[in-house]
Amino acid sequence: MILPFELLRLADTIIDSLDQDSESHYLTEDSLLKLHNVFPDTILLAALDLIDQRKVTESTTPWGFIEYEVLGSNATHIVYITLPKALTTSYCTCPAFNFAVLETGQSLMCKHVLATRLAVRLDLCVKQQISLDYLATVASQRYK
Ligand SMILES: [Zn+2]
Repeated sequence: MILPFELLRLADTIIDSLDQDSESHYLTEDSLLKLHNVFPDTILLAALDLIDQRKVTESTTPWGFIEYEVLGSNATHIVYITLPKALTTSYCTCPAFNFAVLETGQSLMCKHVLATRLAVRLDLCVKQQISLDYLATVASQRYK
């Protein structure tokens, strides 16, 4: 039997080894099949849909910190995908991650994390540079 932690490693490794079709920049059939083996259809299709609709944003600060945001139907979720390899390597602020991943262990990751991992792998994130002026404004509102 594979432990949940090992299953997550397997999923991470599969995502890191996915192949991209050189013309369509999309996943090859073989890569999609591999994903089907570790993720339920509902999460996989929802994640691919988020990528199709360009809802995964990669924001970079002037000092090079990268943050990912996924625009959900009701809210925007912050996604972390490069956490130190402890029990989990990713985190999302959505309720599904809290319940299905952290509390009950029903899922390896939520659709937002999967979408972000795939979008990064496929270079399909919407990229934006956060300006120093913008950050200074946010900081001054928070700390004054
Ligand atoms: Zn999520």
